[in-house]
Amino acid sequence: MSFFSRTPTPTPQSSGNADMLRAIIASMEDALIVYDENFVLRLINPAAERLFSISQSELLGKQLTPKEAENPKLQRLTQIIFPTLAPAIVPRSKSGEYPQVVDLSFEDPYTELRTITSPIADATGHVTGFMKIIRDRTRESSLMRSKTEFITVASHQLRTPITNLEWSLESITEDPGLPESLKEIASGALLSAKELKSIVEDLLSITKIEEGRFGYTFEDADIKQYLEKFLENVLPQAKRVGISVYFDPSKEELPKVRIDGQKVSMVLQNLLDNAIRYNVANGSITVGVQKQENAPFVEITVKDTGIGIPQEEAEKLFSKFYRATNAVKSVPDGSGLGLYIAKNIIQSHGGQIWVESEVNRGSTFHITLPTDPTLIPPKEVPIGV
Ligand code: ADP
Repeated sequence: MSFFSRTPTPTPQSSGNADMLRAIIASMEDALIVYDENFVLRLINPAAERLFSISQSELLGKQLTPKEAENPKLQRLTQIIFPTLAPAIVPRSKSGEYPQVVDLSFEDPYTELRTITSPIADATGHVTGFMKIIRDRTRESSLMRSKTEFITVASHQLRTPITNLEWSLESITEDPGLPESLKEIASGALLSAKELKSIVEDLLSITKIEEGRFGYTFEDADIKQYLEKFLENVLPQAKRVGISVYFDPSKEELPKVRIDGQKVSMVLQNLLDNAIRYNVANGSITVGVQKQENAPFVEITVKDTGIGIPQEEAEKLFSKFYRATNAVKSVPDGSGLGLYIAKNIIQSHGGQIWVESEVNRGSTFHITLPTDPTLIPPKEVPIGV
């Protein structure tokens, strides 16, 4: 069987197309292998020969079985065809969904590969084989790691002096002997030190999240009680700026959720901080929680009466560093990191986060958390670059 000649009588044009396809495959920088439904190798391009240090002639027509993983010459190739045999894998696509994207890493020599697998079907739709594109990401990943390490080290170094600065400014602002003329300057400086600290903390959280080592500890929680307690701590902050906060939970009893309470409060703190910051004078915030109908989730809502979000920007808010155009105008300072962290924390709980909003009317952020613990992803995974 050939994967190139399904047309019975080649016309000059079809043979031209096949030549062109061959040339493309031969000059690809990524490795490409094709095997049939019995794992017999049908095509290996030159990049694959180089990656696996083995020639086409040794491989074409050969059937690979998991046992070949014991053969040093075929080990890497076999682990790629049967990824569960590889030492470390991170699936990047949902199971059963094509193309299947999987990241694999190997020791000695250290190599990081991404494989993209697609089925090949005949005219009737019957799957006759698979093609795998294999990208060597070793250099790219090591550059990303150096960048992340730099951010981690720099943020750690900044943490101590900023904390010292914050303490010093706190003592100064609390000093009853502080002249009136300096009070405003000292309070402004304290606020800036606190903001700086929170940016540094966010950067540290992001590096940990992206490396898949944020570290979650899940415990059963009564979500109504949890929210009530959380809001008690936020009330003084909102009151200081004249924003009213209401709690409007469902009247019915809610099932328990399994959460990392500390991480979920980072999410809520961010949503509440934003609902205060992007609100209008004398505005309000309403926090609700209810069970979703016909789905094993509770839904928490944080509704404000603020500046709102332009429709076309709503999706982008959850990406790193993104700030909406209207927010940049009304509150120039902001890092655009909070919602990115929030999205990752909620996804690590098996839930979702999204926003509904109307400019100048307000926004409602929605979070879902599963009531069925089996919906929580079993393991933290690094985020692909
Ligand atoms: P930051 O608030 O530091 O900019 P976030 O990641 O928390 O970072 O938020 C990203 C952006 O989402 C904000 O800059 C703003 O444009 C928008 N946003 C978030 N919450 C609200 C809100 N409650 N009302 C209006 N815009 C919001």
